[in-house]
Amino acid sequence: MRIALVGNQNSGKTTLFNLLTGTNQKVGNWPGVTVERKIGIIRGTDFEIIDLPGIYSLSPYSVEENISRRFLFEEQVDLILNVIDATSVERSLYLTTQLLELKVPVIIALNMMDIADKRGIKFDLETLEKRLDTTILPISALKKTNVFNLIQTIKIGDYRRNLYQHIYDHELEEAIKRIEPLVETKHARFLAVKVIERDVLFQSYVTDAIEKIVSELEKKYLRDMEQVIADERYRYIEMVRDEAVEAKKDLLTTTDKLDNIFLNRYLAIPIFMLIMFGVYYLAAGPVGGWTVEVVDGLIGGLGEWMNSFLVNVGASPWAVSLVVDGMIAGVGAMMNFLPQLIILFILISLLETTGYMARIAFFLDRIFQKVGLSGKSLIPFIVGSGCSVPAIMSARTINDETEKKMTIMLTPFIPCSAKLPIITLFAGYFFGDRSGLVSASLYFFAIIIILSSAYVMKHVLFKGKTSSFILELPEYKLPSFRYIAYDVLTKAWSFIERAGSVILLASIVVWFLISFNFKLQYGVDIDSSMLAFFGKILSYVFYPMLGELSWAASVSAIQGLVAKEQVVGSMAIIAGYTSDVGEGNLIFNSGIFGFFTASSAYAFMVFNLFSAPCFGAIGAMRQELGTTKRMWKAVLFQTGLAWILAVLVFNIGRLIEVIL
Ligand code: GDP
Ligand code: MG
Repeated sequence: MRIALVGNQNSGKTTLFNLLTGTNQKVGNWPGVTVERKIGIIRGTDFEIIDLPGIYSLSPYSVEENISRRFLFEEQVDLILNVIDATSVERSLYLTTQLLELKVPVIIALNMMDIADKRGIKFDLETLEKRLDTTILPISALKKTNVFNLIQTIKIGDYRRNLYQHIYDHELEEAIKRIEPLVETKHARFLAVKVIERDVLFQSYVTDAIEKIVSELEKKYLRDMEQVIADERYRYIEMVRDEAVEAKKDLLTTTDKLDNIFLNRYLAIPIFMLIMFGVYYLAAGPVGGWTVEVVDGLIGGLGEWMNSFLVNVGASPWAVSLVVDGMIAGVGAMMNFLPQLIILFILISLLETTGYMARIAFFLDRIFQKVGLSGKSLIPFIVGSGCSVPAIMSARTINDETEKKMTIMLTPFIPCSAKLPIITLFAGYFFGDRSGLVSASLYFFAIIIILSSAYVMKHVLFKGKTSSFILELPEYKLPSFRYIAYDVLTKAWSFIERAGSVILLASIVVWFLISFNFKLQYGVDIDSSMLAFFGKILSYVFYPMLGELSWAASVSAIQGLVAKEQVVGSMAIIAGYTSDVGEGNLIFNSGIFGFFTASSAYAFMVFNLFSAPCFGAIGAMRQELGTTKRMWKAVLFQTGLAWILAVLVFNIGRLIEVIL
């Protein structure tokens, strides 16, 4: 038996899913998109259950809706388990009325009963069951109440099978009855309603006979039929609610009271800034920075230990170097960020589950909508000042596909902490006293580029509608520890997996290119390595922003692909010194980098800040954008823009230098 778990966002689907399946679950993506797909087996049964994306209707307006309706309409589903938030039945039942039109039994799990009880919302379940002709079980997925009963009901198969259906006015019901025999699918009623709505996905079912019935209706109602159907659904839901739900309407709820503070006209922004400062302080600032140092030290220690171990067991120098300089250094550069990420994931998860994140999105939405982003884009941008990888991953919370893609493509423009050494080195040496100003100017540059790119993307590339924002805000909730732990561990694990695969491989490749020449001799001068050879070709690409053909600078910039801090490290190694940022003047005094001027230094910084991020972040973009093709598009866009900006900056700078 196959069960589909369907419900609004935040109705508690995932909580219930985890409760029903335990560890017995597989997580993946729906084909072609980055929406998470979870399949599991219900404990003590062999029933398969699928967690469909959170949706509010089965219309064609979002990726999530399309995935869900395709699945429900085309696949063999034996039972729909519809999770409803008992504190907002009205909103939830809209989807339910659509589900009930499919020829599949529906069980309703009336979730969040703990909150509903507290608020004195009362249900006349008997009437509700009769009206909807389904089996309804009040549960609390969080408190685990009545979930066992739910499993029993499913197991025994003892539930109503919604045969009774009559929710539209007489005219519509008649039309539906006439269309039903004309379509060839078991979901005849669902399809009949869809063709009346003129839903695009079902256009191929419209025969001449059906067209006649539908256009008759349109003439009669003189309104968009989709709207007519929606109105009818709401009318029906209101009726059911009046009959079966009794809510105490007095008193402000806790959520209302909290919103009076958090969404207060004057307080909202200061509180938000305070919270964001806290997040930044803990994750990207001093505390997070400290964890990076600790892990860096540990990994450095591991590298040294491994070095002497391998030397002791008589490993050849190239093998030692492969493990220490290639694998440990490359993967280590990623793992440095793991504790910082975990802090960040915990904070984000907290902001999400308490309901505050939705408020941020809500009050920043109007500003961000102007350039085509959503309020939720801000989170990735803030997180991105620490590291792009979790930032890109946190873009998942954006519902609109276009906005999500744009945010993912733009997030790496924020200078991440690994790009700081580049800024420190160049700004420190070339701009001396004004280095602080120059660093700040780069952040402003990044913000301007992000906003204007977003504007161009939205209005030129994607065009189309701006997403409508769901104004309904979720309740404030105390965070659930288990939920956060689960959320954080899943994300952290996905990060570790990537470090162990993509990054490991990339590190080995770069190590190989830098350590060997084309005769495959190991330990050659870096100048005659394969990397230098490619660097010489690449130097033509960098010429317009440097004013000099420099294989060394080109190769260093390219190594930013492994990790941005590699850029400075590489320059130091090539210049013949140990990789120490503090020795900037030694780098620039060396003949090999002596050509840099203030203009080319600024241009080089700009290129490194805006070009494709490190492999870790590119991997994250691949994962979150869903296809390799989209990833390439993003990488080309970023690198192309970086090149153009750097060339512009260099030439304008040179002009200014000449004038002064
Ligand atoms: P989904 O978006 O439908 O998958 O919803 P989730 O399972 O992610 O739940 C959203 C939030 O509601 C989480 O913070 C849960 O801890 C919380 N939640 C889920 N079920 C209940 C419940 O029965 N009672 C309460 N109080 N909170 C719940
Ligand atoms: Mg979920």
